[in-house]
Amino acid sequence: MMQAMLLKEQKKPLKLCEVPIPRPNAEQVLIRVHACGVCRTDLHVFDGDLTEPKLPLILGHEIVGEIVEVGENVRDLKMGERVGVPWLGFTDGTCRYCQRGMENLCENPLFTGYTMDGGFAEYTVAYQRYCFRLPESYGDVEAAPLLCAGLIGYRTYHLAGEGIENLGIYGFGAAAHIIAQVAKQQGKHIYAFTRPGDKDAQEFALRLGADWAGDSDSMPPILLDAALLFAPVGDLIVHALRATVRGGVVVSGGIHMSDIPSFPYHLLWEERVIRSVANLTRQDGIEFFNLIANNPVKTEVESFPLEHANEALDKLRRGELQGAAVLVI
Ligand SMILES: [Zn+2]
Ligand SMILES: [Zn+2]
Repeated sequence: MMQAMLLKEQKKPLKLCEVPIPRPNAEQVLIRVHACGVCRTDLHVFDGDLTEPKLPLILGHEIVGEIVEVGENVRDLKMGERVGVPWLGFTDGTCRYCQRGMENLCENPLFTGYTMDGGFAEYTVAYQRYCFRLPESYGDVEAAPLLCAGLIGYRTYHLAGEGIENLGIYGFGAAAHIIAQVAKQQGKHIYAFTRPGDKDAQEFALRLGADWAGDSDSMPPILLDAALLFAPVGDLIVHALRATVRGGVVVSGGIHMSDIPSFPYHLLWEERVIRSVANLTRQDGIEFFNLIANNPVKTEVESFPLEHANEALDKLRRGELQGAAVLVI
């Protein structure tokens, strides 16, 4: 048996329970979880914004742990190896999207901590194809937020395109604090937008290398070439469009957002682009972990014991975290 924080019903606090240790199938490994990050998507599952979780469910898709058992068809992973498990937990490999290199859009996916059990537990199982080797220079706790905040942040940044000088980041939480460091290393100027009046978050952004920080409804001192959105607030799309240059790109990194208000067409005109990001590909993971192995980023984490997962979710909801929450197991 193992201890797990179980979501039995959406909107009801997680409960510490004893449940059987899962058995890996032929394509899976069993992982002893060392650390698991707490992501805004966990909050969306908890709150019922995402409507199709398996129940009861173990949340958590930023898992770092050690392989303690391998399924019979597992070839590339060994007992004792450290791996990371991300949100995308399985794809069919055969649908039109998988066949075109867009496995992030697979028609028959499984998601860690949503349609499969995740890492708010002592053990979890994961498909061998969706385990990442992590750069050794990162400790377990520091590495956990890289598995979603880092990876989705990277994909969001990547989809903003080439040739960016001035990059806006709306919502300065876990994803932003990682990707701002990557962008800074690549010579971008960073403009950080936070909840109006959130001076702590603005100072945090400046400390991590932002060139400017201000309220999300204000204009930056210079127009942005691209804007990345990590806060689930539809109004930000309109604020960001207003703050971008002609041909600028606004990329929304979240899985859920409040409705986008209507806005005059001229904000979109001049070839501005709005796009979203869904999930990740394994290729994103390979690129991202190579990049940060050679160009280290520092993740700021607040750690909680497993049984305090509800407190971590509450702090995330209230915007009281600087950086990322991580359960240490
Ligand atoms: Zn597919
Ligand atoms: Zn996530």
